[in-house]
This record gives sequence, C-alpha cells and structure tokens, in this order.
Amino acid sequence: MNPESLPEPIPALFPDDSERNRIGSWLTGELEAARRRIQLGSVAPTVDVKKFRSELEAFDFSQPRPLEEALRWAMARMESGIVQMTNPRYFGLFNPGASFPSQCADQIAATFNPQLASSGSSPVPVALEAHVVKAVARRASFGEEATGHFATGGSEANYTALLCALTAAHPKFAADGARAFAGPVRFYTSRDCHIAWLKIAHQAGIGRNALRLIDTDGCGRMDPKALLGAIIEDRAAGALPVMVAATAGTTGAGMIDPLHACADIARQHKLWLHVDAAWGGALLASDRLRGALDGINRADSITIDAHKWFATTMGCAIFITTRAELLSEAFNASTTFMPSSVSGLDPYLNTVQWSRRFVGLRLFLSLAAAGWEGLGAHVERGVAVIERTKEALLATGWSIANDSPAAVLNAIPPPQFGEVRALVRRVVASGRAWVAPTTFEGVDVVRICATNGETTLEDVNALVEALNGR
Ligand SMILES: *Cc1c(COP(=O)(O)O)cnc(C)c1O
Repeated sequence: MNPESLPEPIPALFPDDSERNRIGSWLTGELEAARRRIQLGSVAPTVDVKKFRSELEAFDFSQPRPLEEALRWAMARMESGIVQMTNPRYFGLFNPGASFPSQCADQIAATFNPQLASSGSSPVPVALEAHVVKAVARRASFGEEATGHFATGGSEANYTALLCALTAAHPKFAADGARAFAGPVRFYTSRDCHIAWLKIAHQAGIGRNALRLIDTDGCGRMDPKALLGAIIEDRAAGALPVMVAATAGTTGAGMIDPLHACADIARQHKLWLHVDAAWGGALLASDRLRGALDGINRADSITIDAHKWFATTMGCAIFITTRAELLSEAFNASTTFMPSSVSGLDPYLNTVQWSRRFVGLRLFLSLAAAGWEGLGAHVERGVAVIERTKEALLATGWSIANDSPAAVLNAIPPPQFGEVRALVRRVVASGRAWVAPTTFEGVDVVRICATNGETTLEDVNALVEALNGR
C-alpha cells in the first residue's frame, strides 16, 4: 500500500452524498406506504416462519448485495413478520404505535449518534434529558431535589430502584454485596406486579426468593394489611426487609396499589418505597386523570416508561429518585479514559448503562410539539377508547372484572362463548384485532388495552364484532 494514501471509505457502509440522498428519500416514501398498508392489514403476523428461515439462510454474507435490495426485503418481511403495534386494532400489551415526534428524534439520534455516557462528550443531550426528567418529576409533584435519568425500559429502571434500596439499607452492600446483610433480604410487591421483579432480584444477587408477593384485596390492588403482616413476620424470622414496590397500573388490569398506605408502611418500617408506574405513570399528563396517582410523590423512586402510554419508540423509560446520592454511590466508577465533566451529571457514573443512546429527545420533542395538554389529551383519548369498548361489550352480554382509571379492560365473555383462551386465539388468528388472555383475581378474562393513539370508533366496533364472533 502506498504509505502516502489511505484506502477509500467502504462505499457499501459510507456511500457518497448523492447515493445517501437517493436511498434516504426512497426509504422514507416506502416506509410511509408500508405504514398505510399496515393500518388496514392483519394485526397478527402472517409470515411463514419456516420459509423465512430458509430465506435467511441465503444471507450467508459471502457476497455483498445492493443495499436497496436488502432494505426492500427487510421492510417486506417486517410487514408480515410482527404483531403490528401501529395497527389501530392492536389492543395489546402496552406497546404503542410510535408518535411521529419520537420517530423524528430517532432519526436525529441516529444521524448525530451522540455518546451520552458523559456530559463531557454530550453536554447538550445530557442537559436536555435532565431537563425532561425534571419536568416529569414536577408533574409528579416531587420537590426540586428529585433527579433521575432515562433508561432502556421499566426493567432497568426497576433494577436501579432495587440497587438504590439495597445501597441505602446497608452501608456495606456496595462493597460486600448481599453478604453484608445479617440475614436474607426481602422486598415486597403485590402478586399482580410485573414479574420482571424476579429477574431483577436474581440480577441484584439477592436471589429470587427475596421477592415476597403480597396478596391483593380482591380488586387487584396490594392489600396493605397483608403487606404489613408480611414485613412483621419476615423481621421476626430474621429476614431483612429493604423495599416496598407498589405498582401504579398493573400489567394485567391497570390497577393502582394504595400508594398512601404503602408509603405509610414503608416510612414506619424505614423501607425504600418504589412506585412502578411504568405504564400508569402516563396518567400524570392529564389534569383530569392524574389524581389517580395521588401519593406517588411520597416515593423514594419511581419508574415511568415513555415507550408505553407516552407513545415513544421502544427503549425509553424514566427513573426518578429523591435520593440522588444513592445513584452516585451505586454506580460510581473511576477511569482515566472518560472525558471528565464539571457538572457531576455524568450518566455513566449514576446509572446502569455506560455507552448510552440519546433516547430522551423522543419525549422532549413529543412534549415540545404537543405540550402537557396534548400528551394529556392523548392519554385521555386512550381512556375514552376503553370506555366506548366497555359500553359496547356490556351491551352484548359481557361483564367487566376490573375497575381501573387507566385504559385497560378485563372482560368476561358471556358463558356460551366458552373458554377465554380459545376465544382469544380465534380473534388473534383472524388478524382483525389483537387482545390477550389473562386472569384477574383468579378469573379468566380477555385483556383489552388502548395502546394506539389513532384507534377510531370503527376500530372499536371491529374489535367488538371480532370478540362476538360476528
Ligand atoms: C412494562 C412494565 C414493566 C417492564 O418494563 P419494560 O419497559 O418492558 O422493561 C415493569 N413494570 C410494569 C408495571 C410494566 O407495565
């Protein structure tokens, strides 16, 4: 090789300007056309997975192919190969059709590709994310001392909460891990919690048995008497309670644990109080609905997933805490290679992640474009979709098991409809709508959740007809 020159950049990876522009504009048009087809098509995947696997085998990467061909292929397979969250008849698992501002934010993040590990390398994004976190904290009526960060999801945010609780519970946890405690550690959620808590207990090194699932009150909420009883019993047996994790918006039924009662018990027993509001936290955006979360500001920490009811693209959660010093204690590390910061705001020293994507821009742009009022109206719209669905189901002989202020129904079909799971399988297989089977207080129910911001009354009617087998 000529020592005076370098090889050209690899054009398949770094094409020239005109090629970028040409493929970029074409891709934008194709994606828009696909979006319109998806809204009218099957909600469930229609792909033949066996056939797809054999197509995949043909990509042995021995010969490069034109990027456009690969893009066309990838988009076509996405159109048939997933449950379509952007279809307004997806009444599913909290996964939204993504809002347009959040999609724009992803384009910006992908183009600049900032590294958010440190405020030294990304002063603007780090300050912008902190600003959004503060705005959400104020909305939840936390004091000005509240801080936090964006996380990949509710699971990461909840894991962060447990690590903070453990770090707060014993000065030697950071150094010695679970061995620091004189007995087995315990933390408490209702049995209707998000069951990722079991993985989190495992990850944190305290073991899955550390999670004690508390009975619900017959209406899907943690029973405070049972919580108190469990804490006292565990203490008497030599265990060490560290945290109560109340759920504000259970995954199955959208129920909100009694936050004040949980806060009273946590305070009385000097336990960390976490509120897992991954989905239900969105109620904070609505002046009309936020009262359902009264007491959330008594928590030491909370989780809200922007990638659920705030409709951002996937991988965008918020962790907020009033105990910033514990984040620094739990996640500090020192290296010589990282750009040092003057602000003390370095995400890599206060969070689980190191290299970090700029996800906070998604919520920033959504809030900038819609305001709290617009975001609140989006949340209220979801509740209205569920109210219409509820009326239509009640009018056709169904009953409703849960009573949630949020946008999820647990519906019980008329007895002659037979088993819930079989009914749900039929509806999903038809591609006309997507719902899930679950149980509420021991009863089999159809879980119907408003997740898509563009669902119309026609879509609600289509769902009800599909559920009624018409
Ligand atoms: C979705 C959810 C989680 C998990 O969050 P991910 O973003 O999927 O990691 C935890 N708790 C509750 C209440 C949830 O709804």
